[in-house]
Amino acid sequence: MKARYKYRIYPNHIQTTKLNQLFGCCRYVWNQSLAHCNQLYAKGDKKPSYTDLTKQFITSAKKELIWLKNVASTPLQQSLKDLDQAYKNFFDSCKGKRKSIKAKPPKFKSRKSRQAARFVGANYKVGQDKIYLPKVGKIKIVWSRPLASQPTSVTIIKDSANRYFASFVVETNSEFMPKTNNSIGIDLGISTFATLSNGDKINAPKPLQKNLKKLAKFQHKFTRTEVGSKRREKARVRVAKLHGKIQDIRTDFLHKLSTDLVKKYDTIVLEDLNVSGMVKNRKLAKAISDLGWRKFRTLTESKCDKYGKEFRVINRWEPTTRKCSHCGFKGSKKKLNVREWTCLNCGTFHDRDINAAVNILNTPIIETVTQPITKVETIKAEVLETPVQLSIFEVVAEGQPETVKRTRRRPKTGSKSADSNDVSTRPEFKQLRLF
Ligand SMILES: [Zn+2]
Repeated sequence: MKARYKYRIYPNHIQTTKLNQLFGCCRYVWNQSLAHCNQLYAKGDKKPSYTDLTKQFITSAKKELIWLKNVASTPLQQSLKDLDQAYKNFFDSCKGKRKSIKAKPPKFKSRKSRQAARFVGANYKVGQDKIYLPKVGKIKIVWSRPLASQPTSVTIIKDSANRYFASFVVETNSEFMPKTNNSIGIDLGISTFATLSNGDKINAPKPLQKNLKKLAKFQHKFTRTEVGSKRREKARVRVAKLHGKIQDIRTDFLHKLSTDLVKKYDTIVLEDLNVSGMVKNRKLAKAISDLGWRKFRTLTESKCDKYGKEFRVINRWEPTTRKCSHCGFKGSKKKLNVREWTCLNCGTFHDRDINAAVNILNTPIIETVTQPITKVETIKAEVLETPVQLSIFEVVAEGQPETVKRTRRRPKTGSKSADSNDVSTRPEFKQLRLF
């Protein structure tokens, strides 16, 4: 099993310049290759292989561009490997082969966002309080916890708040935690972050909500600075630092909660929420993003994996709120403001969230696939038996971006009032039912 270990590093002035050169070269190689692939795609040609791209954009390019020789070459190759992987994920997504979240086509990298470069193999070395990188030197590192084993790669990261990190990938063995013979269903919500089927309610810190005023002030100051000035860069870093702090508070809470749950329970059941769909709802977007449901799920799932516990996700269309967890009677739809209700059939008094959590726990599992089966997948299943027809499938797969465009364009066609109605009332009602 692979795990990431991330540490803060403190490069000096010279090293910072060298690292920035390295990031720039990685970005250059990626962007040039991507532009080349896009051109070929427009002509209807196939994507060149990783080897072809390396030859053209690293080996040959070095003859003309001397500055490409000033940085280590492994990160450049890794950059192209990443591009290759990004394309593979995208193609797999189009064909419906990918189980996890849909991948978009690779994008151009910007100088302004987070920067990264990866070293693999034996060309970097870790010491007591330094990490050695070829053509950069020995950088100060703070080992906040020991590495589990010899790392297979290290990624040097510069975040938008100008902090530097070294993120190692290490091979770890899965550790088994003692069994507790307890199972738990969890209902995620906005006012209460998590309601457990045993009745416990857990509130989350809402760092964004807390810092909203401060953030607005910083952002306002940023917009009033002159483009390209030193003051602007200072103001930008201040905004980025606050964003970083907000994220740290959120992540810390989610880590602690997920670890605690995995320790206490053998089976953890969650509802498969359509988070990206809900975030599109403008009224709820900020509140939901502030909570980090998606991250909570990812963390819990990986920790269950690591410690030999069971993780289940139930279908998002399961009527967990409407159903009485005591007798199974399916009542009417319940508006979001109905926090407590009494079952018409058996007379049990329910807390809305606890009832939902119990239902989540007791829902029989049918499929562990988290993504709903898409149209493309169904077509693929039908077509697979007759290989001659495969070309049809290819057309469907490539037609995917078209449909994405069409849905994006839709709101523009309606009048403004109809549009806002569409976005904030109807789907909201439908989606709110999920809590
Ligand atoms: Zn009942």
